[in-house]
Amino acid sequence: MTKLPDTLQFIYADMVMRAAGLEPEGPYPGYNVPWPCRCTECGAQVTPRFRQVRDGIGACRSCAMRARHAERRARNLPNPGGRSPRRRAA
Ligand SMILES: [Zn+2]
Repeated sequence: MTKLPDTLQFIYADMVMRAAGLEPEGPYPGYNVPWPCRCTECGAQVTPRFRQVRDGIGACRSCAMRARHAERRARNLPNPGGRSPRRRAA
């Protein structure tokens, strides 16, 4: 069986990165090699490995961190509109 031509491997890797919200800034360096990319979500410069992105292990660290913070904030938020009832003057 013949191997995938390199160009196909490049195109495939590029598609996976873009689907994960990353804009590759250079050619596919290899399966387990840090790949310089720009996060299309927050604009951060990141160097994930293709293996991580393909396996869904965070593409952009700052986006992952922000998601975690947002989640925590949402949990700690007081009840919307849940104003403590006014004490009646005696
Ligand atoms: Zn990001």
